[in-house]
Amino acid sequence: MSSFEVYDPDFSRYVMGNAPVKQLATGFDWVEGPVWFGDAGCLLFSDIPNNKILRFVPGQGISTYRAPSNYSNGHTRDRQGRLVSCEHGLRRVTRTEYDGAITIIADSYQGKPLNSPNDVVVHSDGSIWFTDPHYGIMTNYEGFAAEQELPCNVYRVDPNGGIAAVLTDFNCPNGLAFSPDETLLYVADTGRMFHPDPQHIRVFSMASGRPTGGEVFHTITPGCADGIRCDSDGNLWSSARDGVHCIAPDGHLMGKILVPETVSNLCFGGRAKHQLFITATTSLYAITLNRAGVQKP
Ligand code: MG
Repeated sequence: MSSFEVYDPDFSRYVMGNAPVKQLATGFDWVEGPVWFGDAGCLLFSDIPNNKILRFVPGQGISTYRAPSNYSNGHTRDRQGRLVSCEHGLRRVTRTEYDGAITIIADSYQGKPLNSPNDVVVHSDGSIWFTDPHYGIMTNYEGFAAEQELPCNVYRVDPNGGIAAVLTDFNCPNGLAFSPDETLLYVADTGRMFHPDPQHIRVFSMASGRPTGGEVFHTITPGCADGIRCDSDGNLWSSARDGVHCIAPDGHLMGKILVPETVSNLCFGGRAKHQLFITATTSLYAITLNRAGVQKP
């Protein structure tokens, strides 16, 4: 049976008391970046320190999708269904083509190497948005220790290839997500992890086509918003140290799904996009919800 904490009675509409948080696989070192492929009936996710992208097939288990993965972290799919990946090791964002070839989407800005792209989303206009904190170059654990040459920015890569730093006032931008209608952009700031730095999610208006505003939407406690995704009602589901937090569109905490390990990232998937896949430290978990997530295509 699952453990929930309810802060708003509306949360009970989203969870089902008899749906368990299931541990699907364990024994990894630090997993992140889940992305669902309904067409292939599988989930891909990263075990960053072990330099692998893993594949989970319901009913079959775990296999290796790509190794080495260049210490990949976050993944998503573009509007054509192709895998888009952040790689700490080669400090780049890539796309995996239908034939398996790797295309570099971004690896530098103004002539300097990116830090270590962390998480990525694709807008319906085809632009690719990613965060570039320094975590992957701090040590040799999740990549290769290196000098940081750029601030920790959020970038937008135009469908025509141009790259722009669109958000430049973050400490360490991490998870990001568009609202279902793409009128809002949420970006988490997870700071330097070891200092009393920001652990919050900011919200930007996309009314002008570019992010404006940026006030604090919600502060995560305990832990941080390493990964965030919206459901079809516009609620934001965030990682936290104690599990997954569900945050209403007005920013208040509706409830928590308690998970036995620190959660890093999450994504919706499954037959009706109503399964929440959760990467948490050494394990992959899932819980079936009473709402579908926004995961395009
Ligand atoms: Mg992250």
